[in-house]
Amino acid sequence: MNQNLNFRAYFQCINEDCRSTYNVDEIVYQCKKCGDLLEVKHETNELKKRTPDEWKQLFSERYRSTIFPYVSGVWGKREWVLPEIEEQNIITTGEGATHLFDARLFANNLGVKALYVKQCGISHTGSFKDLGMTVLVSQVNQMIRRGKKIRAVACASTGDTSASLASYAAKAGIPSIVFLPENKVSTAQLIQPVSNGARVISLDTDFDGCMKIVKQVSQEVGIYLANSMNSLRVEGQKTISIEIMQQLNWNVPDWIVIPGGNLGNVSALGNGFEMMLEIGLIQKAPRILLAQSRNANPLYRSYLNEFKDFSPVEAKQTLASAIQIGDPVSVKKAIKVLKRFQGIVEDASESELSDAAALGDKFGLYNDPHTGVAIAAMQKLINKNIIEKNHTVVIISTASGLKFTEFKVKYHQNEIENINSTYINSIYRSKPNLSEVMDIINKHL
Ligand SMILES: *Cc1c(COP(=O)(O)O)cnc(C)c1O
Ligand SMILES: [Zn+2]
Repeated sequence: MNQNLNFRAYFQCINEDCRSTYNVDEIVYQCKKCGDLLEVKHETNELKKRTPDEWKQLFSERYRSTIFPYVSGVWGKREWVLPEIEEQNIITTGEGATHLFDARLFANNLGVKALYVKQCGISHTGSFKDLGMTVLVSQVNQMIRRGKKIRAVACASTGDTSASLASYAAKAGIPSIVFLPENKVSTAQLIQPVSNGARVISLDTDFDGCMKIVKQVSQEVGIYLANSMNSLRVEGQKTISIEIMQQLNWNVPDWIVIPGGNLGNVSALGNGFEMMLEIGLIQKAPRILLAQSRNANPLYRSYLNEFKDFSPVEAKQTLASAIQIGDPVSVKKAIKVLKRFQGIVEDASESELSDAAALGDKFGLYNDPHTGVAIAAMQKLINKNIIEKNHTVVIISTASGLKFTEFKVKYHQNEIENINSTYINSIYRSKPNLSEVMDIINKHL
């Protein structure tokens, strides 16, 4: 295999009338000419010099390798992600290469042919955010080592981005600053960046308010913006699509279901499939179902109007706190992806998302509330017969349930406000006495 191909990635403005390009070594988050979002583009003609089978074989050889940097699922796809990174600058925690949970009994229960849950939350900091953060922090590390003056990396977060940034930055020895909305993230999410030594600033506002501040702060010299409007993150997250296809032996599923807030991840998912189609690794596109919390559903509202317009909303409190976002940064990218992949948007109420998470748990999963939103949205399309009996569905699970213990405990104690827990599993109390224990077992088994 020819190793000396000129793989290259660069930033390009998403505005069709502009298309300005920038070097990935440049500190730029938005187009300097028109202000629109940037996306990372690859020289696909170079990538096409390897055949689809050669790529598949290479990805397969590297999968769950013991060899650095292929210990990481993301860097196993390095030519498709950030080809010009020097190995010595890569900051990885072995992210990616996560399990694709074959939920057969759950699929039977729901009445679909097959259901898989991509466990992106089984990762160093417990969410898929690690997939993008390894790329961003590695690139920042490379820029610093090449002499760029970067004092710190900064982000606004609904909890998982800050946990991820703080950890990767600490591993690289780069200071980090995180902005969190006061009282709107779980205890686990709050204590992660604190433990990793980030400067944690809690603001009396919501995520959208934190985002405004961090954008201003990153105008200051030397503060590098790590939110997903920085499209380096989307490049790492894109590998989710490629891994799913590897794990399904390149058989394209009918549906991918993904929860969305700031909408970077659904854009990444689409880009991954787009690249595989373009380079010829797959021939058919899946459909995408984007799931939102009803309390923060601006894209769902826009979808009902065929995406003709989009208006931000004020996001209300939701158990799916990582997607409590009313003014998503990547909305334009997401709409493009949804149009391309015959996308549908659904929303789920607090009660629907809680029950959906708990129902999945009964089949061996341990769902965070965001995965609950995705499962609830899937159930709606099954009920409407849009997801059909002979369909294969993949759900993107975005975080570990272990980060949301308060949610899980309250559900099974039937203590979530205004919600009646349908799938409650109560703990039986008994004296340590055989006959009393056997009474319980005989009554409830
Ligand atoms: C960030 C996050 C999301 C939403 O991803 P976006 O790219 O903002 O749409 C969903 N679930 C969890 C657990 C997250 O941390
Ligand atoms: Zn532009």
